[in-house]
Amino acid sequence: MTPLPDFFDSPVHLPFNSTCLDGFALAAPDRDPGPPDGLWLILRGNELLLREENSASRLPAGPCPVTAGKHPPLFVGTWQGRPLRVLGMSREAEIPDGFFFESLLASEPRMDIAQLSLGGLAGKILHWEKNSRYCSRCGETTERLPGEWGRKCRGCGYHHYPHIHPCVIVIVRRAGEVLLTRKAEWPPNRYSLVAGFLDFGECLEEAVAREVLEETGIRVANVRYIGSQSWPFPSQLMAGFVADYAGGEVRVQLSELEDARWFRLDALPALPPKRSIARYLIDRFCL
Ligand SMILES: [Zn+2]
Repeated sequence: MTPLPDFFDSPVHLPFNSTCLDGFALAAPDRDPGPPDGLWLILRGNELLLREENSASRLPAGPCPVTAGKHPPLFVGTWQGRPLRVLGMSREAEIPDGFFFESLLASEPRMDIAQLSLGGLAGKILHWEKNSRYCSRCGETTERLPGEWGRKCRGCGYHHYPHIHPCVIVIVRRAGEVLLTRKAEWPPNRYSLVAGFLDFGECLEEAVAREVLEETGIRVANVRYIGSQSWPFPSQLMAGFVADYAGGEVRVQLSELEDARWFRLDALPALPPKRSIARYLIDRFCL
């Protein structure tokens, strides 16, 4: 197994982005060429099923190694020329002999960057499948549109397409210091960046300024876009920014955060894993 990189020269190369899928070609689920060949992305929550072979983690291959649950496997495209199918398992499902589940959120996952990114893709797809069975306009069931990931309502005919939610994440700087925040549920002493979802009518830069002000009481200026990362927990696009301090004293929004404060660049707390755009921004602008 190749461990995840310690350094990313561009946000494009962060895990979960298509660049890391290493030869994956997305296809519509009704284009399945049929068994028996193929590889499996089998998820139990945020955990991916893998098997160990010669000290390397591999995706299951050949016949499906588990009993399909309520929903049948779903063809999602080809990876390195082989059909790739996704299957969601219940959290109580047993692990077949010779396999193990590994969390996509593990700090040092036993999988390489392509497997991690494919696991994330499977998570986004299963999230869409789960949340698109019924029409949000009239409540009827939906059916797949031929050759697409979209679905059509059997009642009102409305076409639904996968929901990917835009979020902003920002590193705010002032002389020798960086603004970091922490949520109560994070590991002890871990801090990260201000982040949040867009509101109606906002452009990304406006969302950055509002989120920083709401969460920390700090005003920012000179908001600049750096790059983005697909984020499959469950279905976001994280747009990363850097901004400069423009005024205000830290006032923590306690409904969202446990803490927010300025850290000196030579005395940073525990930080998010390197696979995230949060850490990419911190490493790029603080080190
Ligand atoms: Zn409908």
